[in-house]
Amino acid sequence: MVNAQMAVLNNAYAAGSDTQGSAATPFKYTLADIDFSYNDAWYGVVPGPVEKEMKAATRVGTSKSTLNVWTANIGDDLLGWATFPTKRFSTDDGVVILDESMPGGAAGKYAFGDTLTHEVGHWLALYHTFQGGCSGKGDSVADTPAEATPQFDCPEGADSCPKSSGLDPIHNFMDYTQDSCMYQFTPGQVARMSDAWTQYRAS
Ligand SMILES: [Zn+2]
Repeated sequence: MVNAQMAVLNNAYAAGSDTQGSAATPFKYTLADIDFSYNDAWYGVVPGPVEKEMKAATRVGTSKSTLNVWTANIGDDLLGWATFPTKRFSTDDGVVILDESMPGGAAGKYAFGDTLTHEVGHWLALYHTFQGGCSGKGDSVADTPAEATPQFDCPEGADSCPKSSGLDPIHNFMDYTQDSCMYQFTPGQVARMSDAWTQYRAS
């Protein structure tokens, strides 16, 4: 599952197969190592003190350019969460995903691996496409149309901000639609991720 997940992640960031209309990013991910821990409290982790303990005890690397990914049967009905880039390194840095969201897992329409694609987008400073709703600067990316609220499933033609140009970006990796529906980053998102890398993560 991990190898299949790495393939999905790299395909998404390279604008590879089935990423219709996506912009290629410069990011490539290499699997360095896999560790296993046996700890009931960590297995059902949610954001909070147990998360901090788990991450500090198991993380690898002390560089902001090393991506740590934790997989577990996470609680609160979450698919995952991520840390944004920060100026100073933190042992919290990284991404947590629902284990069964990896390709071939039991998470149904969310079991094709794009939860990790989405969370790594946050790790590289992307906000949700629905950030800020219909007004203001939204997700701080100019070429993602405004969106009032998250979209789920795959509602073709949805237009929750009719006064703004463009339909809801339901195919964007940074919305909440199902994996088969999300397959795009925009050039503006690629630029933001690249800038964030240079500013915060490249050592
Ligand atoms: Zn998110």
